[in-house]
Amino acid sequence: MTTPPLQLDSIATHAGREGLAEQGVHVPSIDLSTTNPVPDLDASGLSYETMAGGGRPVPGGGSVYARLWNPTVARFEDGLAALEGTAEAVAFSSGMAAMTAVILAAKSEHSGRHVVAVRPLYGGTDHLLGSPLLDVETTYCAPSEVADAVRPDTCLVVVETPANPTLELVDIAAITAAAGSAPVVVDNTFATPVLQNPARFGAALVLHSATKFIGGHGDAIAGVVATSTPWAEALRRVRAITGSLLHPMGGYLLHRGLATLPLRVRAGQASADKLVGWASDHPAISQVLYPGLPECDPAGLVGRQMRGPGAMFALRLTGGYAAAAHLVSSVRLFEHAVSLGGVTSLISHPASLTHRPVPADARPDAGVVRLSIGLEDVEDLRADLEQALRAR
Ligand SMILES: *Cc1c(COP(=O)(O)O)cnc(C)c1O
Repeated sequence: MTTPPLQLDSIATHAGREGLAEQGVHVPSIDLSTTNPVPDLDASGLSYETMAGGGRPVPGGGSVYARLWNPTVARFEDGLAALEGTAEAVAFSSGMAAMTAVILAAKSEHSGRHVVAVRPLYGGTDHLLGSPLLDVETTYCAPSEVADAVRPDTCLVVVETPANPTLELVDIAAITAAAGSAPVVVDNTFATPVLQNPARFGAALVLHSATKFIGGHGDAIAGVVATSTPWAEALRRVRAITGSLLHPMGGYLLHRGLATLPLRVRAGQASADKLVGWASDHPAISQVLYPGLPECDPAGLVGRQMRGPGAMFALRLTGGYAAAAHLVSSVRLFEHAVSLGGVTSLISHPASLTHRPVPADARPDAGVVRLSIGLEDVEDLRADLEQALRAR
C-alpha cells in the first residue's frame, strides 16, 4: 500500500521530526554539544573526512565536532527541504552568510568568477556582490537580458522574487532557461515555501533569510539554502571550512517556526490584501506595489508561479520623502523597524536603511515605504495607517 504524499500543512508540522517517538520525546532536543566523544578512531576519522568534504556523518563514527554537523540544525534543514521539495537544505548563521556560501560554492564548482544579477535585490546582497571581498565580477541586467549577460565564465545567476523592497516579480522558469548551464539562485525570502517553490521552475539553489518569515518571531538570525545533494555538499564544505554555522538554539526555533509558517503567511496575506484594497483609494498614496494587483503582475505569475501574493507590500507616497519619513515615524501599532515576516507588523523606509549600500541610480525612490503584515487585527492596522497619514 502506498501512502499519498502529504499536503503542505502536514509537511510543515511533521517534517524533520522523524524518530522522536523512538527517543521517547515529543519535540526535538536541543543538542548543544560542541564536541562529541570519539567512538572509534578509524570510523571517526572517516566520518570527519566525509563531513569536511560536505557529506553526512558515517555510522559508527559519530559527528565529531559541531562545526561539521549538528542534529538539531539538521532537523530544521530536513523540514525546510521537505517544504521546498528539494533533496536537502543547508542552514547558515544569517541570510548573508548563506548568500556568501552560495557565491563561494558556485565559484569553486564552476571555475568562473562572473555573476549575473537581476535588480532589485536585497541591499545586503547588492553590497556583497559589489564589494571586492568575494572577488566576483557582477553584471546587472533586466530579466529579459539574462541570456545575453551570461558568459562561459558565469558561475551564478542571482534573482529575487518578489524583490525587496518594491515587490517586482521575476519569471523563474524564464530565467533558468535563459541562464542555460549557469546555476540560478532565487532569494525566496518574501514568498516563503508556502507560496513559491523555485526549484520546481529550475532554480538550482533556493535561498531564504530565515530571520524573516521562517523564524517568524523576530528572535533568530539565520539563512538557509534548499538544493540538490551535490550543491548541499558544496555548501556544507564551505560552511565547515568558513564556520558560518547556525547555532542549535536558532535551529530549534526555526524548526518550531516551520509548523506555523503556512498559517502565519496566509493570515498576513489575507490582511495585506485588505490593506492594499484600502490603500489603492487613499489620496496620500500614489502607487501600491503588491503582487496581487494586476498591474504589478503583467506576466500572470501569481497563480502560476506563486500560490498567493504574500504578506508584503510597498506604498509610494504622493508627498515623496517627507511624507514617507512622516508616515514611518507616526505609526503606533506598526513598528518602525527594518526586517519583515514576523508576527507583528513592521514598516520601513528602504532608501534610508536596508538599501543604503545600493548605488543611488539603482536605489528605491525615497517616497517608498515597505510594509510587512503580521497577525494583528486588520482593522487596527488600517486605523493605525489612517491616523499616521493624517497626523501632522
Ligand atoms: C533580510 C534579507 C536578507 C539577508 O538576511 P539576513 O538574515 O539579515 O542576513 C536577504 N534577502 C532578503 C530578501 C532579505 O529580506
